[in-house]
Amino acid sequence: MNARTFYDLMKSTHESFTYIAGPCAVESEDQVLSTAAFLSSLGIPILRGGAFKPRTSPDTFQGMGEAGLKLLARAREETGMLVVTEAMDVDHLELVSQYADIIQIGSRNSQNFELLKRVGRIDKPVLLKRGFGNTLDEFVNSARYVSNEGNQRIILVERGIRTFEQSTRFTLDISAVPVLRERVGFPVIVDPSHPAGKARYVKPLSMAATAAGASGLMIEVHPEPSKAKSDSEQQLNFKQFEELKNEVDVILNATGRTILRFQEA
Ligand code: PEP
Ligand code: MN
Repeated sequence: MNARTFYDLMKSTHESFTYIAGPCAVESEDQVLSTAAFLSSLGIPILRGGAFKPRTSPDTFQGMGEAGLKLLARAREETGMLVVTEAMDVDHLELVSQYADIIQIGSRNSQNFELLKRVGRIDKPVLLKRGFGNTLDEFVNSARYVSNEGNQRIILVERGIRTFEQSTRFTLDISAVPVLRERVGFPVIVDPSHPAGKARYVKPLSMAATAAGASGLMIEVHPEPSKAKSDSEQQLNFKQFEELKNEVDVILNATGRTILRFQEA
């Protein structure tokens, strides 16, 4: 199944639920292929991983670029998973879209209107993250920049916003789930990893998002989080991810949700 068909399945019912998981950044062949093999063994249909990374400091790892995209393509070939990866710039869009099944637009580019318009002319699903300083009205307008150009396959991602609270990296806005579901027909998923900032907070935020009606979760998973080149404190190891999935699955099963699996991808 290609990404367009998978997206249509995601959208066809609010009862469906999709897990997206993988490392913050693609770092090496071994890292990405072992993560993909583990996730596909759990039936996870979509692999995430950044090849172009929007880092706060210019002195930190910026991503592997095209070499990283090639590793994601290998992971797809070996596992059959669909791949989502970020395009940070209009200049990279063509390259990224040659490799990605789903194109990610990150929080920092959520109001990069030229990039949104350009991705709106590509016939691949778009995973659009909420700008961490944006209201939900602004977020909906960002999605309209994409859909107005023709591309209606949009996944909205709540990933936390800046508030006065400093105990977590960002404040996960759970209200975004019901509010966005009321306002748009697109699937609304939650990234609990970036607001958590710490691995131990990722599971409770995932449970809350699922109970609130999110159409899926996007979670950072790394074979050895302490060695990760970015976001090492918030990435889950394989065992932690499996435990999280088992607990979230209990909520999904109790509420009659359909978990979209690898076989459908
Ligand atoms: C990411 O998901 O890779 C990422 C950089 O997140 P955000 O754009 O939400 O900060
Ligand atoms: Mn990250």
